[in-house]
Amino acid sequence: MKTHVKALVVGGGAVGTSIAYHLARGGWDDVMLLERDELTSGSTWHAAGLLPLFNMSYATTHIHKYSVDFYKTLEEETGLNAGFSIVGNLRMAQTDARMDEYMLYASTAETAGVPYEWMTPAQIKDRWPLVRTEDLKGAIFHPTDGYINPADVTMAMAKGARQRGVMIERKWQVDGYHWTGSEWQVTVTKMVEKGGNLVPSDETTVITAEHVVTATGNHAQRTARLLGIKTPAIPVEHQFIVTEPDPALVEYRKQGGAEHPVLRDADAKWYVREERGGWILGPYERNAPARFAYGVPDSFRADLFPLDLERIEEEYMSMIHRIPSSEEVGLKDDYNGPICYTPDGNPLVGPAPGLRNMWLAEGFSFGITAAGGTGYYLAQLMIEGEAEIDMASLDPKRYGSWMTTDYAVAKNEEAYEHVYILHHPDEEREAARPLRTSPAYDRQKAAGAQFGQVNGWERPNYYAPEGFDDHAARSFRRGGWWSHVVEEAKAIREGVGLIDATAFTKHLVKGPGATAFLDWFTCNKLPKVGRINLTYALTTAGTTRTEYTIVRLAEDEYYLVSAGAWTAYDSDFLQKAIEDKIPEFGWISCHDVTTQWGVFAIAGPKSRDVLNEIVRDAEPETVLSNKRFPWLTMREIELGMCPVRAIRVAYTGELGWELHHPIEMQNYLWDQLVAAGEKHGMKLVGARAQNWLRQEKSYRAFGTELGRDATPAEADLPRFIDLAKEFHGKAAMEATGIRAKCVTLLIDGPEDADPWGREALYDGDTKVGRLTSGGYSVAFGKSIGMGYVSPDLAVPGTKLKVKMFDQLWDCEITEDSPYDPKNEVIRKDG
Ligand SMILES: Cc1cc2nc3c(=O)[nH]c(=O)nc-3n(C[C@H](O)[C@H](O)[C@H](O)COP(=O)(O)OP(=O)(O)OC[C@H]3O[C@@H](n4cnc5c(N)ncnc54)[C@H](O)[C@@H]3O)c2cc1C
Repeated sequence: MKTHVKALVVGGGAVGTSIAYHLARGGWDDVMLLERDELTSGSTWHAAGLLPLFNMSYATTHIHKYSVDFYKTLEEETGLNAGFSIVGNLRMAQTDARMDEYMLYASTAETAGVPYEWMTPAQIKDRWPLVRTEDLKGAIFHPTDGYINPADVTMAMAKGARQRGVMIERKWQVDGYHWTGSEWQVTVTKMVEKGGNLVPSDETTVITAEHVVTATGNHAQRTARLLGIKTPAIPVEHQFIVTEPDPALVEYRKQGGAEHPVLRDADAKWYVREERGGWILGPYERNAPARFAYGVPDSFRADLFPLDLERIEEEYMSMIHRIPSSEEVGLKDDYNGPICYTPDGNPLVGPAPGLRNMWLAEGFSFGITAAGGTGYYLAQLMIEGEAEIDMASLDPKRYGSWMTTDYAVAKNEEAYEHVYILHHPDEEREAARPLRTSPAYDRQKAAGAQFGQVNGWERPNYYAPEGFDDHAARSFRRGGWWSHVVEEAKAIREGVGLIDATAFTKHLVKGPGATAFLDWFTCNKLPKVGRINLTYALTTAGTTRTEYTIVRLAEDEYYLVSAGAWTAYDSDFLQKAIEDKIPEFGWISCHDVTTQWGVFAIAGPKSRDVLNEIVRDAEPETVLSNKRFPWLTMREIELGMCPVRAIRVAYTGELGWELHHPIEMQNYLWDQLVAAGEKHGMKLVGARAQNWLRQEKSYRAFGTELGRDATPAEADLPRFIDLAKEFHGKAAMEATGIRAKCVTLLIDGPEDADPWGREALYDGDTKVGRLTSGGYSVAFGKSIGMGYVSPDLAVPGTKLKVKMFDQLWDCEITEDSPYDPKNEVIRKDG
């Protein structure tokens, strides 16, 4: 066996095999794959093989689409038939809300080029008469997907990989990883059969590899332990049952009836497909337990758990309701296997936290569907430094070091159970909450806060009167919360509001090398001492990796504020870049101070009046004036007894300050502000109103307008890019040019709905872009959105259409910052 390779892939399931294949196809000719047992002996062997294109996430939709297209080509390349049955996929809706969900999903499908059709109950009945349809509202049909044989597709990828030079070694288990500073030394043990068990032999060796990818499926916890990292990838039990042949189905097929598509009755929480004249039923039931939270026992090989029929009785009954002929047939087979999950149901794909050249591909719950695309995009990331799509939503570092086993278990069980729930865009999941709370949490809760969760933090989404039910308020249209958010947004435009922004990510970067480093690391000019700049760190491809508000505290000391959802993701990138650059720029220290600083944002024309009530200064009447405290500056001030690092910026685009304060004094400061605000009618405001307001100012948000699929130039932020200096990613950004451009649109949409930021944009019949954010504008009294369109259309006044609820609605591109374009209200003196 070769002992030095460029890339070592650990795990021979569908995912690892696809990664090895794509690394070779991408041009790496020295790739090895190690499997501790046989290829497909993990979860891959017992998967049902469904390949659903349906997915609410833009990145995952691209991944699934790639897989489906790729699998269709494999036979030609390898001569192996992967058993792809393109029978289509029919998602039925029992309720209007479910149809709304499908219509929102259809927008995502359109933006990714995934074909779909609508079907009425009568059309379904006409084509597949065994299906009961009288209680259906309709369905969405994907004609191009279906199901595949998971083992066959893996073997075809393995053959393709071998043909491209990949070495595949079975019965070798990875038992240790050691980073030498330039490569990985991977200790591997030969596994042998002993009495039906697979056990380690005495034969070990060390393989050195420049890059390692782990795709170890249910063994992710062991892998994490070997690497000294944390991952929330923990399996949950998933079962499917296979019935005896159904005479009605057999007869229908004999009469020339078309094979049923994969049927999904989401409201009943199951999928069903044909299998040799019978049916396979796969439920996503309640109470499926997590397994192997601390690792897979040695005795568990390609094994299954016992069937728990009671747990899936409800779903079984509902299958009989939907396909009445299935009542007569008995069970032939059952499968209850571990299916790996993560708290949000998305896999963990990308660089491992804190480690170099170590890539994770773990936590796949739709691993057969995702394998092809994961291999393709991860290979791009590894070989070229970036992928065509923004992989951030799959990045392993979206969970920070606060994450624990109990958390992962609770959330993974929830994610499993939620596979078929209505995926309201305003959904907030309940498990493992509250967990990370800022000190003012109880006060906010008492004031009616309806919390959302960001990176584990509880953050008020909005405030509502006592007894309000956020659950019942969720909708694909304007939910029950909408009118409360309108009032909050108005309060900031017309009076004053207080927002908790404690979840912001904060880093302190200082030392003799700090200035030169940050000048290279970010694209805008660095601020002078006491001033603030908005700036971007770029990827090697010139796209946006992180947005920072940089405050220069001293000549060589900087306070960096970035998005709250991305603390570990930002920290890892920053720390690694600093380590790389210390030899060039000199010593730099970097600390994640996120949990040391609370943040309140006070904004609105009366915000200065509220602060004036409690600010302490030799000349309190002028301390907050434009002269002493101009826009885009920072001052250390005292609010009562609380020392505050006040920053004159406002993400809402109104006169305002961010009040960064010692976390242990948060409740004191909250009480001071609330008491002072009473006289001025101050309202408590949540993140949803803030999100609407920032769109009126065309402020791009990280994770929507800003990400690794667009450069800051494409985000149309020239005023924050200093082309006179050299910075990381500059040449790539310039070479990329402008593929699409970020715009703000005012939308004449349906009376009862606003866009969510996933909708397709049209010019006549031609798709010309997509929304990335959406909401309601209180300043303009209509829906608002931000998104990307072809550069030639990115001109104020251009009239386009936006697809919402399967209809095209008028919208118009506005100038940047349609509200207060000259920033007069932000700069207001007083
Ligand atoms: C009942 C059931 C039905 C399913 N149906 C579907 C479906 O219809 N569609 C779909 O997309 N998904 C489905 N899934 C999920 C799917 O099976 C998984 O997502 C997928 O198989 C994951 O592939 P993988 O390569 O990540 O992991 P695995 O297939 O588990 O492969 C991981 C491999 O890594 C090896 N390994 C682990 N540690 C080491 C080590 N240290 N050294 C060497 N090798 C190691 C293991 O032996 C294993 O072979 C289903 C799952 C279940 C349980």
